Amino acid sequence: ANFTELGLISPLLARLTELEYQQPTPIQAQVIPSVLAGRDLIAGANTGSGKTAAFALPILQHLFLQQHLSSKNSKGNYVTGLILVPTRELAKQVADSIKSHAVHFNGAIKTVAVFGGVSANTQMLALRGGTDILVATPGRLLDLISSNAIKLDRVKTLVLDEADRMLSLGFTDELSALLDLLPKNKQTLLFSATFPEQVQTLTQELLNDPVEIQL
Ligand code: AMP
Repeated sequence: ANFTELGLISPLLARLTELEYQQPTPIQAQVIPSVLAGRDLIAGANTGSGKTAAFALPILQHLFLQQHLSSKNSKGNYVTGLILVPTRELAKQVADSIKSHAVHFNGAIKTVAVFGGVSANTQMLALRGGTDILVATPGRLLDLISSNAIKLDRVKTLVLDEADRMLSLGFTDELSALLDLLPKNKQTLLFSATFPEQVQTLTQELLNDPVEIQL
C-alpha cells in the first residue's frame, strides 16, 4: 500500500512527498490504519523502522480533523496527544519529526517537547495555553504537572515510545504515577524493541484489546 491508501489526508501526503518518503515502511503500513481506526496497539519496533512517523502521522491527522469540529479551548494547560520517551535526545528528535510532518497544517497543531537536564522555565512558558502534542520524559513531566504547568485530564492518545528502555532506565515509578493521572478512556500505543516481563505487565494493565504488530 502507498500512503494515500493508508488513509492519510493531503496536507500530510504533500509533506511526505517533500521528505521523499516514497512508500510506507512495514511498520507504518500496519500501524497507521489501526491508529486511524482508533485501536490500541502494541508494536515491536526498533529505531530505524520508521516507528516515529507510524504514530505521528495518524495522531496529527486525528488532532487536525478534530480541530475543525470543536472550537479550541485555549484556556487551561491541557494536552491532547501525549508521547512518553526515555531520553532527552529522543524527546527532541520525536518532537522535531512531528513538527516537520505538520508543516502544511500551518501552525494549527502545537507540539512541545519537555525533558530534564535544562531549566524548566522555558518549557513552562511553551506550555502556556496548553498544547496539542507533548513529547516528554517522565520525570520532567511529573515536575511540570506539580507546578500546574500542564494537565493530563484531556489526553485522548497516549504513546509509550521505547517502553522497554523507559522501564530499564528506572522510570517505573514515574510512569505509574503518570498513568494514574491519565483519563481511563483514551487510545494507547506502545512501542518496544523487546518484551521483558515488565513490559508485558504494563501492556496488560494499560492496553484495551490491542492490535499486536510484530515484524
Ligand atoms: P525512526 O525509526 O522513526 O527513527 O525513523 C528512521 C528514519 O527513517 C528517519 O530518518 C525517518 O525520517 C526515515 N523514514 C521514516 N519513514 C520513512 C519512509 N516511509 N520512507 C523513507 N524514510 C523514512
